Amino acid sequence: MSDRQIQNVGIIGGGQLAWMMADAAQKLNLNLIVQTPHPSDPAASIADRVILAPIDDAAATAQLAALCDVITFENEFIDLEALQAIARQDTIFRPRLQALAPLLDKYDQRSYFKSLGLPVPDFRLLDEENPDPPDRFPAVLKARRHGYDGYGTFIVKSQEEFSQLWERLNRPSLLLEEFVPFEKELAIMAARGATGEIALYPVVETQQEKEVCRRVIAPADISPEVSLQVSAIAQQLLNRLEVIGIFGIELFLTRDGKISVNEIAPRTHNSGHYTLDACDISQFEMHLRAVAGLPLATPQLTNCEGAVMVNLLGYETSHCDYAEKRAKLAEIPNARVHWYGKSESRPGRKLGHITVLLQQGELEKANAIARRVEALWYSREP
Ligand code: ADP
Repeated sequence: MSDRQIQNVGIIGGGQLAWMMADAAQKLNLNLIVQTPHPSDPAASIADRVILAPIDDAAATAQLAALCDVITFENEFIDLEALQAIARQDTIFRPRLQALAPLLDKYDQRSYFKSLGLPVPDFRLLDEENPDPPDRFPAVLKARRHGYDGYGTFIVKSQEEFSQLWERLNRPSLLLEEFVPFEKELAIMAARGATGEIALYPVVETQQEKEVCRRVIAPADISPEVSLQVSAIAQQLLNRLEVIGIFGIELFLTRDGKISVNEIAPRTHNSGHYTLDACDISQFEMHLRAVAGLPLATPQLTNCEGAVMVNLLGYETSHCDYAEKRAKLAEIPNARVHWYGKSESRPGRKLGHITVLLQQGELEKANAIARRVEALWYSREP
């Protein structure tokens, strides 16, 4: 299949990341066929066709492969080995499976970064054979697979807390790493096309609370050197892995200007949501362009100097659609509210996000705008 004929794009995963591809797919004249477990999943409503099956159901993916020219991922909780058995696997998956292989397990990912000489926090494996407790606290323990939004990440402050947690989890194999006293967390979205060209978005600041992304400020207030270093890391990783598609790369920046790589998301990413409203090519369009073999272009901020994105997280269990609150949020000047249409709200669940475009001279207002959004959303004092 030559790239020019690509029409049907399969997506493994039907959450908000796939849902946000809808406009770009329409613009590029691509059909989206989505494999996702529930008919109420966000992307089921925008897909041209849905295969209702769990993400790691390789038999369902074989069915998907029969309907698609290429298959991509909105979610990395896949069964890589089973996918490898699917016919035409060399060409059908974008990014290719070999590019995902070192990334799906957090310990393997860290080891891979280290083997490339990239700066990473000190780390080691913790398991039955390597049960030594950390020698410094706080220390960070991470589930090797299936962690997201901080689920599976534990920051332990003492030997006692460590032992209790490890016993409670039943002594699993975990990634153990040093706690990085970062000044800022940074991220960059980077895409690589079918012919090897790379498109980089600006480096952004991400703000997490309890290990969950709450806000993103684009661009990050950092030195040109740090920005160049981050961009170079992104290029190196995408080229080494011969990626086709977009990746989100998360990093720590310490007060003395040192950066280290935290993790790669081999897909579109929350830190790139602002691109929907603030850039001429969104991360979703860029990813689909790469996957469909279309040329990439350097993305530009449009009609703004930057943007602040705030996640709208659930704060109660409910079936409310919060229409009134959303209308209030939309009244903020230069704001755009994105609502994922999930049928149930739960504490911490990502229900939507808002992006506020920042004009010249407004970059320093980003944090105050985020506070205003959160005051409205969570009904509290700014
Ligand atoms: P997830 O895959 O669940 O997003 P991450 O590894 O990105 O997990 O961790 C989530 C957040 O936890 C990070 O954004 C950061 O705020 C915090 N965190 C993770 N690792 C460390 C670390 N080594 N030192 C300090 N904070 C960390």
